[in-house]
Amino acid sequence: MRAEPIGAPCTFHGEGPFWDDVRRSLLVVDMLAGDVVRLDGTGAPVRSHVGDVAAVVRARAEGGYVLALERGFALADEDLSVTDQITVLGDASARMNDGGCDPQGRFYCGTMAYDVAPGAGSLYRLDTDRTVTTVLDGVTISNGLQWSVDGSLAYYNDTPTGRVDVFDVDPGTGAFSGRRPFAVVPDDAGKPDGMAVDAEGGIWIALWEGGRVHRYDADGALTEVVELPVSRTTACTFGGPDGRTLFVTSSRIGVTEAAEPLAGAVFAIDAGVAGAVQHAYAG
Ligand code: CA
Repeated sequence: MRAEPIGAPCTFHGEGPFWDDVRRSLLVVDMLAGDVVRLDGTGAPVRSHVGDVAAVVRARAEGGYVLALERGFALADEDLSVTDQITVLGDASARMNDGGCDPQGRFYCGTMAYDVAPGAGSLYRLDTDRTVTTVLDGVTISNGLQWSVDGSLAYYNDTPTGRVDVFDVDPGTGAFSGRRPFAVVPDDAGKPDGMAVDAEGGIWIALWEGGRVHRYDADGALTEVVELPVSRTTACTFGGPDGRTLFVTSSRIGVTEAAEPLAGAVFAIDAGVAGAVQHAYAG
């Protein structure tokens, strides 16, 4: 499989790709710029500034978007203008980082401390009535979070562990239990960052400093390795007209343009499989 850049680099720290099925375009976050960047495959990328940090963007079932910003959640209208904010973090020592929506329409996002203090991060859930619950404590760099096709499992990366973990999910409450390793990533392949799930139950993991994406089957066996021309691959998602393109974001933090001219670009891979359904926030 080949990864092709979509135009020139359009982010400094690209993350959180999301296929916007309503507008038939790809959204990514330029996280530390606080921007959501829309790529429709025709014109120049369109940037929307949403806050000091733009961590995650997903659709709302009723239209518009749900966001994770630096210190909490937010709702935005169809033009990505923020209309409501729900503050979660009480001080500026940490920020929101990565997350997603479950099949019941709840939105989750995890955090990391700015100084990357071990165990200082948490994972939070925004329920459809807009209450916020702590799902996990004691994590360091909360990343990923995708659900199995049947919704019974949640896959999760606390990046420094070098593992992809899996939880059992209570669909009624959204509670997680039974955390266990799903896959262990060798040190020389990079650290597990963002993820996507395909319709056959495969888990695609972007590997920070690995310059690659791994696919694991539902049993945790490594079935694909896709190499990219950038080292800091950050996250991936399925999209495109037929849902079979895997989009991968990248970062140029700590990377020189001379060494990696494509760092910060978004890449497209013909994955040969469709993505699983991406869920919208139902609140
Ligand atoms: Ca990440």
